[in-house]
Formats: sequence, C-alpha cells, structure tokens
Amino acid sequence: MAVFEDESEFIFTVDGKQIGTHKGIIKTEELVDKPFGGTFHTHTGQKFVALRPRFVDEIYHMKRKTQIVYPKDMGFILLMLDVKEGDKVIDAGVGSGAMCAALARAVGSCGKVFAYEKREEFLKLAEENLRKWGLLDRVVLKLKDISEGFDEVVDAIFLDVPDPWNYIRQCYDSLIGSGNLAIVCPTTNQVQQVVDELQKNGFFQIEIWESLFRQYKTNPERLRPFDRMVAHTAYMIFARKKYF
Ligand code: SAM
Repeated sequence: MAVFEDESEFIFTVDGKQIGTHKGIIKTEELVDKPFGGTFHTHTGQKFVALRPRFVDEIYHMKRKTQIVYPKDMGFILLMLDVKEGDKVIDAGVGSGAMCAALARAVGSCGKVFAYEKREEFLKLAEENLRKWGLLDRVVLKLKDISEGFDEVVDAIFLDVPDPWNYIRQCYDSLIGSGNLAIVCPTTNQVQQVVDELQKNGFFQIEIWESLFRQYKTNPERLRPFDRMVAHTAYMIFARKKYF
C-alpha cells in the first residue's frame, strides 16, 4: 500500500498496472522487487512510502455491501470467543466477510469457519474478499438461512444478523458444552430481546459490552484527541453454553 505525507492511503497489487491518486500516478512496475518501507514518487514527484498492508488496513479498505464488524470490536470478540488454532467456528451471517476473515486467521490452517449467509450476492462478495486474502481454504461458505439450523457442532459461534434472538436455540444446539457465543447488535432494544432468549435457553455467564475508542493526534506539542470519533458501532453480547 502507498501512504502519502497527508496520511492518505491506497491499497493495490503490484501487478504492473498504474494507480491513479490525487497526488499523481503510481506506476506499480517501479515497485517490483523493491523492499517494503521504501520511499517512492508518483509521476508528479509526490513522495509516498510503500508499506505491506496489515489486516486492519485491508478491513478498512475492503469491498463491502453490508455493515461490517469494526476493528475496534473485532479483537475483543476474538478473545471472548476464545478462538484458537484448530478450532471449528460458525460465522452467521457472513455479509461482506470481515469477521469471517478475522475468524479464519484465528483458527489457522488446521481449523475451519462454517460461514452462513442467506443472500447469494453477499456470499459471492465474501468469497471474493476471502480469496484475495488467501483465507478461502479455511472457510466453508454456505448459502443457507440459519432459521433451518446449523449443520455442525462447533467450539464457538459468532452471530451478526438483524434478529439474533430468533436463532438462540439453533446456536445452543450447535455449540459444544461450555462453547462460546458472541452476538453483535446496534440497538439496546435488540440487546434486551437477545438477553431474554439467552437466559431462557441454557446460556450462562452472559455479558454485554460496548467499546469506546478514541484516537489521538500525534503532535507532541499539542497532544490531544481527534475532534470526532466513531462513537457507536454495536453492542457485543457474550454467553456460554451450559447443560440444563
Ligand atoms: N459480520 C459481517 C461482516 O463482518 O462482514 C456482516 C454481517 S451483515 C451485518 C448481516 C448479514 O446477515 C447480511 O449479509 C444478511 O444477509 C445476513 N442474514 C440475515 N439474516 C440471515 C439468516 N436468517 N440466515 C443467514 N444469513 C442472514
């Protein structure tokens, strides 16, 4: 990726093509075999640094047709789901594939993510994104409405659909004992319905979280936060399966 002095960023593949930017054209053929971290110039002489994109950069720049799970929430969800190398997990609905990719990275090459989506156009987009990131072989993409239930029993489930309270029984049936469930909802009304269903359906250790992240400007003489912040993304609900 190219990062200019004004902090604007462009993610691209070094494939010989030219990339148009507001600072001039980047000729990617000039970057072949050059080390990451080097400084280069556009055709108008504007400087940029070539960096290897981090996964978080890919998420911010990814092609999306749905709301995605934001990086500020993603890391915490992975920890609370306790997803690790070799695990089997369910992701529903897969949407644009952001959280699915995070799960696929966490389960490693020995694990699997079973990713459910009811709309074909979103499933295709998720497939495209996962292929681009080299994660497709860790994911089983399923075009299926989760009201019909899941086909696997797994270590953890991540649920990101508009009406999650309708699928709590399906989640219970597909989790191992003490397995972890994470649900995201943008509104408190949804949270209320979810918690009610979790309590009625054998879930335990229920927690509700919201993460507030504030970024700071990097001027040492005037160290202060940015004026604007992403104040709200979603509430995160976590629960664990116990036997009745
Ligand atoms: N977590 C995704 C990400 O990080 O990119 C975004 C998920 S998006 C907000 C919600 C998705 O759930 C949509 O793509 C929608 O089509 C899908 N969905 C909604 N209800 C569903 C159902 N009953 N079965 C399967 N998928 C469903």
